[in-house]
Amino acid sequence: MSNNILPVKGTHDIFGLDMEKYNFIVDKFNMISAKFNFQSIQTPIIEHQELFSRSVGEDTDIVSKEMYSFVDKGDTTICLRPEATSSLARFAASNYQSGQMKFSTHGPMFRRERPQKGRYRQFHQINIENIGEKSSYIDFEIILIASTILKEIGLEADQYTLLINSLGSPEDQINYSKILSGYLNQYKKNLSETSLTRLEKNPLRILDSKDESDKEILLNAPKINDYLSKESQNFFNDIKLMLTDNNILFKEDEKLVRGLDYYTHTAFEFQTNEEKRQNAILAGGRYDKLINMISSRDIPGIGWAAGIERLSDLLSDQKNYTQIPKKILYAVQEESYLSNSSILKQIYRADIRHEIKVNKNIKKLFTYADKNKFNFILLIGEEEFKSQSIILKNLDDKSQKLYKQNEIILVNEIR
Ligand code: ATP
Ligand code: MG
Repeated sequence: MSNNILPVKGTHDIFGLDMEKYNFIVDKFNMISAKFNFQSIQTPIIEHQELFSRSVGEDTDIVSKEMYSFVDKGDTTICLRPEATSSLARFAASNYQSGQMKFSTHGPMFRRERPQKGRYRQFHQINIENIGEKSSYIDFEIILIASTILKEIGLEADQYTLLINSLGSPEDQINYSKILSGYLNQYKKNLSETSLTRLEKNPLRILDSKDESDKEILLNAPKINDYLSKESQNFFNDIKLMLTDNNILFKEDEKLVRGLDYYTHTAFEFQTNEEKRQNAILAGGRYDKLINMISSRDIPGIGWAAGIERLSDLLSDQKNYTQIPKKILYAVQEESYLSNSSILKQIYRADIRHEIKVNKNIKKLFTYADKNKFNFILLIGEEEFKSQSIILKNLDDKSQKLYKQNEIILVNEIR
């Protein structure tokens, strides 16, 4: 006897209700993104590590601490993707011609974080990106789609909050970086070690620090919003107007800077209002610098990603998430009773979730149907076999009827 092999730390199997919710979320996501003319794409799970060190940024946690990377046969350094945006930006950098490239994708992402509820080392995201053009409408639309999906999967408006901020243009960020450095330089003694190194290389990163002493210093730091150019302010105002026009509630949050290096202008995050340790359910923003960081081209883009596990965790356990409706158990006492296949054919033809079960003990067949939440049991026992009849019992309202095997029309009976 040997020990069971468990899943790798921070990974989990998705099964049963969790899998039903997962598929339900992905189906809604595909439907809604297709309606807005986004095209489905799948990119590889392994990428060159350089893609992320150049896009997400060397001194982010994701790249500096959390990457699963390995040297492939002494040749190139390859990693498991920690996010999808960089891969889509890579694709766009090579394939973009004109207009908008609108992508939707979903799948596993990998980050070597400390595992906790809602925080895994392999987790799954749904993700959309609109690459190629810059307009405030596009930013509004990408947030509208996010909000529509949250509604359509069944979340109530009071379950979450939309936070938005503007990080300004690349020029705004350069100006503001200097101002922020000036402020933080006065508090060098109290800054965390990571923030001290960032102060030299990339002071904006410090805004995202989770260190308590850093956070306190940041409370009174100058805010990026106060240093936006007129143009950046107008761009942001247009988006807010459209959100308001379309009844999408939001809160401005000047502390929202997002964890990645490549964001410019609009940044947003949907957070759950429920008491959860991990409250970020969907996050994104505009990244006009990103494609130029990984290629010679300069193409603007915006997108978001949502954690499927975190969304799933907010969905009620009481609803039915499968599309095929009634579950029917076709139960017979003897294998040979199944030889009248006209009933089987009806079952196969109809859109009914079904299972076939043979057991000499009728009581066991009923117990099985109850335990597995079947809505109907279709039964041929010894007596029914002799009289060429069949019982259909509705297990929800307990009503039961006897039919001739060659007369029953299943789809009429189980609506
Ligand atoms: P957090 O602040 O929770 O670490 P993040 O800013 O790192 O989130 P993003 O990189 O913006 O997250 O990813 C988008 C979404 O993916 C998050 O809003 C969250 O729902 C989900 N997500 C991110 N990391 C994890 C993880 N380790 N496990 C599960 N879901 C995750
Ligand atoms: Mg994170």
